[in-house]
Amino acid sequence: MSEDCKQTLSELVDRCRTGGMRRTQALESVLRLLLESDHPLTAGVIAESPGLKGHCDPATVYRLLLRLEEHGILRRLGLRDRAAHYTIRHSHTHDDYIVCTRCGSIEELEMDCPVEALEAEIAKKSGFTQLDHELEFFGVCPSCAGAEG
Ligand SMILES: [Zn+2]
Ligand SMILES: [Zn+2]
Repeated sequence: MSEDCKQTLSELVDRCRTGGMRRTQALESVLRLLLESDHPLTAGVIAESPGLKGHCDPATVYRLLLRLEEHGILRRLGLRDRAAHYTIRHSHTHDDYIVCTRCGSIEELEMDCPVEALEAEIAKKSGFTQLDHELEFFGVCPSCAGAEG
């Protein structure tokens, strides 16, 4: 794990503790896994990861993910009822995503944030400051479209 990652991990753990969460092995394993992943991960994949499988039952991992989402540490993405994915919510940067409504796969948009100008305009008109957004586009991915012929 890089020094940057370690630094971020300890900041995240501090945020969790400030929010009243206990520092547990499972908490650290979940945060470390997501920090080291360059892609959002499903709850199932997280529960099955080497750091958690056998140490912590899946129901505990799912509850932990929900709590982390409630505390604003994690962002939940993708289809709500199945294939929900999780990623760390960073304060200084964000990604926008596109989700397949058939298979639930999720990809980061390979382009600059498409709504920065819109955000500035909304800030100006509304008087709100520190605007933020979370974009998810939904559609049918190329492999699902291909499967239909
Ligand atoms: Zn698909
Ligand atoms: Zn954006």
